Amino acid sequence: MKTKNKIILLVISIISFMFIIITVEMAYNFRAYGVKSIDDKAQAISRTVEHSLTSLMVTGVIEDRELFLSQLEDIPNIDDIWLSRGHKVIEMYGKGLSKESAQDEIDLEVLRTGEAKKVINDNLFSQSTYRITIPYKATRKGKIDCMSCHTNASEGDTLGAITITMSIDDSKQIGIKTASNTILIALILMVLITIILNYIISPFLSLFDSIKKVMNKAQQGDYSYRIKETKGKEAKDVSLWINGLLEKLEVTLDAIDSKISIFLSENQKVEDKDHLINVKNTIERLSDIYKFRKTIEYDETVDEIYIRLAQILILKLDISEFNFFETNTNTGEIKNVYSNIEVLCNIFEEGCRADKTNTAIDSTQFKNICSACKNCDDLNYFCIPYSISNEIDLVISIYARDKVQTLKVKKMIPYIQDYVDAAKTVIVSKKLMAILEYNAQTDALTGLKNRKYLEDSIVKITSQAQRTNTPYGILLCDIDYFKMINDTYGHDIGDNAIKVVAQTLKDNIRESDVAVRYGGEEFMILLYNCDEDYILNIAEKIRINFSKKEIPTGGKTIIMKTMSIGVSMFSKDSEDLNECIKYADLALYKAKKSGRNKVIRFDRTLLK
Ligand code: GH3
Ligand code: MG
Ligand code: MG
Repeated sequence: MKTKNKIILLVISIISFMFIIITVEMAYNFRAYGVKSIDDKAQAISRTVEHSLTSLMVTGVIEDRELFLSQLEDIPNIDDIWLSRGHKVIEMYGKGLSKESAQDEIDLEVLRTGEAKKVINDNLFSQSTYRITIPYKATRKGKIDCMSCHTNASEGDTLGAITITMSIDDSKQIGIKTASNTILIALILMVLITIILNYIISPFLSLFDSIKKVMNKAQQGDYSYRIKETKGKEAKDVSLWINGLLEKLEVTLDAIDSKISIFLSENQKVEDKDHLINVKNTIERLSDIYKFRKTIEYDETVDEIYIRLAQILILKLDISEFNFFETNTNTGEIKNVYSNIEVLCNIFEEGCRADKTNTAIDSTQFKNICSACKNCDDLNYFCIPYSISNEIDLVISIYARDKVQTLKVKKMIPYIQDYVDAAKTVIVSKKLMAILEYNAQTDALTGLKNRKYLEDSIVKITSQAQRTNTPYGILLCDIDYFKMINDTYGHDIGDNAIKVVAQTLKDNIRESDVAVRYGGEEFMILLYNCDEDYILNIAEKIRINFSKKEIPTGGKTIIMKTMSIGVSMFSKDSEDLNECIKYADLALYKAKKSGRNKVIRFDRTLLK
């Protein structure tokens, strides 16, 4: 219902209620007043009759009372009047005239009890009457002693009663007229108020109704509603301000919503009806993604980034069972780069369907969609490929065991896309950095670590060895008469010889050992955690194996070549790793000087 109608209805209800109360109160007062005045009149008549009869009695002409009694009926507004003799009067003077005996039960009751009795007969549509029966009591008080004539009576005895019946229609009619007038005035007032309300407050009320509707829609997120035409200057001003504000709000929110949502994946816009909520949600998500990106920028390795991405899935997106795979589009190599659940598919043998087809795999759309997933009958799986760079794809494989989890995963997939998008460039730059670092520390010809690597690692190796009390064997190897090979067969064959040395070293050391190309045709080996015999043994093996190896020449030429090796031990020979390397060099020098093709263990005499 419109506010205007509500107010009018309320005002009319209040006025009606007031007038009903006033009318009822007035009707009641009128009736009470009418009854009181009739009552007074009846009392006066009763006293007059009493005194008149007493006078007739005293003057001895009581026998002539009939005329007096008949004249009483002529008093205006009196319908009927009669007397009733009490038994003491009947005892002394007989029953008397017909107008002097009790007519009904009320007369008898008054004679018996000595109490006056009134009966009002109210009728709205027919005549209303008032009847009163008043007792006459014997008394010695006053001017005349009743007992002088009524000798058989005592003080207070009821000698008789008078009954008067009168019409009370006059007061009833005045009451009805007054009530009717009041109702008429109320009706006129109501009409007047309705007209005034309509004229004066109507523009404000319709403005209010319009504002209510527009604001209600805005509160639900629809800012397109406007306040319609209003009357009155003030109402017009208010409607203009509100419409202007809504216009600005709608246009601005629309612009913000459409502009900031381009930072998020296409199918992920949270489509709330309310642009304001949309903007808030989008900004919240962008802020989360920005924080994630900022954090991973400071991570050192790609593995750390994957761990952080996994935390987002677990803690923020509430996804618990998943694996990350990195696939190399050039080599086809697949690596499980993060795992928090057993890999259920044969991805490593059969390859990844999501990666090969470059489409998201969703087992809810087609059961057994991926032939590699052999143990996946009891669950749903979602494998989404993300292109990180030209070479690398990331496949996120998620398992969902029930309906609730399945729905949740489907809902969250676009959110994962945003985080992966944010991580892409950081992953690529970390990988490039790793490649640069690897290249800077790796010898291009042999693939062994280079001298820079050794220099970068010396502090780390030393502190680790000292902390764990781990010995290192240091081997310094140098090809004998290498210049001659170069000079005789050319530089390329010389390079081949260097490669053969590198391969020989790799073949004879363990994973934990490190081979470094120390100079042109000079190599260093750090043998991790081993005793002197073992070190000398390895050195000897390397020397012999190298001498046996052929150097590819592109022909049938067999090049004779040997190497000399100097050996020292860290930290047995010195607490300083660099010093130990120098000692190994001294031992190598000795090997060269003493005929080459041999292994020489450093001893202190070499320092002299
Ligand atoms: P020695 O038995 O005393 O070691 O005699 P040597 O001829 O091997 O002498 P030296 O160890 O000093 O030889 C170093 C030579 O190695 C000089 C240089 O021409 C050659 N050389 C250095 N780097 C390379 C390389 O990358 N490729 C080739 N082919 N030769 C290199
Ligand atoms: Mg040499
Ligand atoms: Mg040399």
